[in-house]
Amino acid sequence: MLQSKPREDSYLHKGLRKQLVQILRDKGITDEKVLDAINTIPRHFFLDPAFERQAYEDRAFPISADQTISQPFTVAHQTQLLQIKKFDKVLEIGTGSAYQACVLAKLGVTLFTIERQRVLYDHVAQYFFLKEYPNIKRFYGDGYEGLPSYGPFDKIIVTAAAPYIPPKLVEQLKPGGIFVVPVGEGNAQKMLKITKDAQGKIHEENTGNFSFVPMLPGKNK
Ligand code: SAH
Repeated sequence: MLQSKPREDSYLHKGLRKQLVQILRDKGITDEKVLDAINTIPRHFFLDPAFERQAYEDRAFPISADQTISQPFTVAHQTQLLQIKKFDKVLEIGTGSAYQACVLAKLGVTLFTIERQRVLYDHVAQYFFLKEYPNIKRFYGDGYEGLPSYGPFDKIIVTAAAPYIPPKLVEQLKPGGIFVVPVGEGNAQKMLKITKDAQGKIHEENTGNFSFVPMLPGKNK
């Protein structure tokens, strides 16, 4: 499904992408750097060629292993909440298609991203566009564990529905850091923005309801 050959980014795709950015503005996304990243990254590269036209609709899409590429509004909202600064060290749980990873990488961070599905981890390895972002470091593993030997992180983002706030990820957040995680089981999750102050105290803010595939324990072969 994902391809090793470079794919074409035509004027049609670029035009559709501009329209998508306008939709995101209308839905309340204001961070110009985030909008610019979405305007730059060819989302259709991350989908099966059969879905190229739909790649710029504001909706989630199926990828391999029963997983999804997040809805563009969700990607924009989570990224905006992270208040990314260039050179931030960021941890992402749930690489999936690597679209969210590329949006973060475009913002100039060093991104560590973990995927628990071997199939998806291997797919992304063949993926041509990723060569443009050597600042993405990919790991096959269990996101509940985080990456203690690479932490602590300035920012952490979970892109699957966590049944509770994963404690090891909170531990791996720097003081002054921001952790964005959808929490809850069933069809809707609360998008929490968790901040750790200079004293290490945790603050939580609910930024609205979203819908994700579940964050599952352990790795899958
Ligand atoms: N950020 C992705 C969204 C993919 S959907 C994108 O832009 O395409 C969520 C992903 O989280 C799935 O690929 C799923 O396999 C992965 N996932 C679920 N639980 C996980 C865990 N414990 N550790 C790592 N990845 C996990």
